[in-house]
Amino acid sequence: MKTTTRVCVIGGGVVGCSVLYHLTKLGWSDVMLIERSDLTSGSTWHAAGGFHTLNGDTNMAALQGYTIRLYKELEEITGMSCGLHHVGGVTLADNPDRFDMLLAERAKHRYMGLETAIVTPDEIAKIAPIVNLEGILGGLYDPLDGHLDPSGTTHAYAKAARMGGAVIETHCKVLETNSRPDGSWVVVTEKGTIHAEHVVNAGGLWAREVAAMAGTYLPLHPMEHQYIVTDDIAAIYERDSEHPHVMDPAGESYLRQEGRGLCIGFYEQPCRPWAVDGTPWDFGHELLPDDFDKIGDSIEFAYRRFPVLESAGVKSVIHGPFTFAPDGNPLVGPVPGLRNYWSACGVMAGFSQGGGVGLTLAQWMIEGEPERDVRAMDVARFGGWITPGYTRPKVVENYQKRFSVSYPNEELPAARPNRTTPMYDIFDRMGAVWGQQYGLEVANYFAVEGEPRYETPSFRRSDAFDATAREVKAVREAVGINEVQNFGKYLVTGPRARDWLDRIMAGRIPAPGRLSLTPMLSERGKVIGDFTVSCLTPERYQLTASYGAQAYHLRWFLRHQEDGASIENISDKRTGFQIAGPRAREVLQAVTRSDVSDIAFMDVRALVVGMTDCLVQRVSYTGDLGYEIYCDPMAQRQLWQTLWDAGQSFGMQPFGMRAMMSLRLDRFFGSWGAEFSPDYSAAECGLDRFISFRKNTDFIGRSVAEAERATPPDRCLAVFEVDAEGADAHGYEPVWIDGTVQGFCTSGGYAHHTGMSVAMALIPRDKAQAGLRAEIEILGKMRPATLLSEPVFDPKGARMRG
Ligand SMILES: Cc1cc2nc3c(=O)[nH]c(=O)nc-3n(C[C@H](O)[C@H](O)[C@H](O)COP(=O)(O)OP(=O)(O)OC[C@H]3O[C@@H](n4cnc5c(N)ncnc54)[C@H](O)[C@@H]3O)c2cc1C
Repeated sequence: MKTTTRVCVIGGGVVGCSVLYHLTKLGWSDVMLIERSDLTSGSTWHAAGGFHTLNGDTNMAALQGYTIRLYKELEEITGMSCGLHHVGGVTLADNPDRFDMLLAERAKHRYMGLETAIVTPDEIAKIAPIVNLEGILGGLYDPLDGHLDPSGTTHAYAKAARMGGAVIETHCKVLETNSRPDGSWVVVTEKGTIHAEHVVNAGGLWAREVAAMAGTYLPLHPMEHQYIVTDDIAAIYERDSEHPHVMDPAGESYLRQEGRGLCIGFYEQPCRPWAVDGTPWDFGHELLPDDFDKIGDSIEFAYRRFPVLESAGVKSVIHGPFTFAPDGNPLVGPVPGLRNYWSACGVMAGFSQGGGVGLTLAQWMIEGEPERDVRAMDVARFGGWITPGYTRPKVVENYQKRFSVSYPNEELPAARPNRTTPMYDIFDRMGAVWGQQYGLEVANYFAVEGEPRYETPSFRRSDAFDATAREVKAVREAVGINEVQNFGKYLVTGPRARDWLDRIMAGRIPAPGRLSLTPMLSERGKVIGDFTVSCLTPERYQLTASYGAQAYHLRWFLRHQEDGASIENISDKRTGFQIAGPRAREVLQAVTRSDVSDIAFMDVRALVVGMTDCLVQRVSYTGDLGYEIYCDPMAQRQLWQTLWDAGQSFGMQPFGMRAMMSLRLDRFFGSWGAEFSPDYSAAECGLDRFISFRKNTDFIGRSVAEAERATPPDRCLAVFEVDAEGADAHGYEPVWIDGTVQGFCTSGGYAHHTGMSVAMALIPRDKAQAGLRAEIEILGKMRPATLLSEPVFDPKGARMRG
């Protein structure tokens, strides 16, 4: 057996083989794969082999599209058959919300270039005649849906990889993975030891065990899953063409033709996690015992939806386990805290996603970063706080909601509350309606007496509307208060702290006592963070950014760490409040003996507030006069009491994330994950104005930023007022200009202060002229939209800076 290799991929399922193939495809041939048994010996061999492009995340959908197109390429390269059946598929909608979701999906597909179509019940009757259309409002047809032979496809990946120089070692269990000081790995197997520069965990059903060998935990869990293959059905085998796939979300089922009969699988509500305490090493080619009780209700529903099933005999039942992450998306990328250790795990739809996962990981390993924003499947989207006790109920929830409508304002209830700040019970008593960010409970808004304590999920304006309006009004007319816990916070210290920040951040690093806003760019010039940097002393800096990006940002910081600058994640060690609104200064003055009148916009100052040592920053995402006041979490309740008591005579009200996201629209402030993401360069999303081209540092991403300064990119961020009808833009709605789709929304919402529906969008730069008339497709309706050339509140920033 080969004893040294550049990459050792552990696991010969469809995902491991795809990773191996993509490494060779992108130019690394000194790569090997180790498989415990034969290839496909995990969940791969018993998959139903279905594939589809639909995914709530646009980039995931694009990668699924890549996977499906790849199969032809694999067949051509290897001469092997993947057993492809491109039969198309229709997803049914039996209620208005589900239909809204399909309309929103279809709209996204327009600029993605996917040829899906909304179909009427009559059209469904022609496409999929075995469907009982009672109660069906319509559907979404996707011509790319289909199925394949799971084993043939996995072997085709393997053959293509071998043709590119890869070596595959089967019947060779990996026993240990031990890191070496130089960042490489010793992989101990049953057949000997391998020295590998990189390790990829593609252990599928055993990914938890393989991760534990490296001393890490990956948040995934196997679930049992069952599908049935029927005997021959005349209505199927008498057709001239193969019957397409039918996804029936109401019945939580997927169905397709299998030979002369049908195959139907269920995501049943009484689902069961499998192998809770670990996957047995001797599990392999056996199935789980049939369990018709578990899917009894689902079968009954299926009889009504597909009456031909009632008289069809059961030919076989496939009941096996496969793994899920808490949100159902794969866990891909460099594992935080480990060097040269990569995850390709938690892939619940290996035949829709395996190609995209392989491509992404290979790009990351070989080129340093993936070509698109893959945060939806980045293994770093979960932090060190995650445990098996959290993962399991979330995975169950995800399984049960596999076919549910997902709403833009939805807050999922499982495993909550999990992480709370000292304010939890105080805010709860004040009527907080909670959301969740990175495991942390965050107040979305505060309901008053008589209002529901639950925000109904909706694609339209929700029942948070009145509360949000109330909170926005309090901020704009008096003063609002909310927590700053949900910022990611970092302390950078040391004699080279400033130099390091100058290299890592594209913007200006401020002088002591000042703060600045700066993008952080990748080598390719993509936006990987929007930071506030506060200079406390020349050797001490506090950074704030998105709370949910902690593991993502920290991984980047540590990758680029240098002697003389140490970095500490203090996200949960510093907390506090922001107060914002025209009376915010009066509140602050009332709680400190220091004179606050000379704290200028973008100043940072140490102050004693009440009896608490605080760091006060004069900045606010609300676009109003505002202060962020940071303290030790042990003092947070005391600080709250001080600010809240003093605030009463100034009309202080608490406000939550819904109001914050409305307030930022007034000033056209972008937000992380929407306008600012690794999909866009700084010049595309407008963050280039914070780049310091004058500083004498070769900051990461500089060459691309310089090039874009000389020749601006073709698209840019624009803001529209939308003539909306009870539903606002949320993100990815197409923007029609001169009758064609020329852009898409990054985010939007209702700006309560001005009473406008606002949408932020990327459009062609040459079209971004004041007064441009466009149309934005929201839930299937073309809504007129007008480009706004300046912020609708305080355009000169007088309130914010005054
Ligand atoms: C009933 C059922 C139906 C399904 N239907 C579909 C479908 O229609 N479409 C779809 O896309 N997906 C479907 N899936 C899911 C699909 O099977 C998985 O997404 C896919 O198989 C995941 O592949 P993998 O390579 O990540 O994991 P696995 O297939 O589990 O592969 C992991 C491999 O790693 C090896 N391994 C683990 N530990 C070690 C070690 N220490 N040393 C050496 N080797 C090791 C294992 O032996 C195994 O071969 C279905 C799953 C089930 C259970």
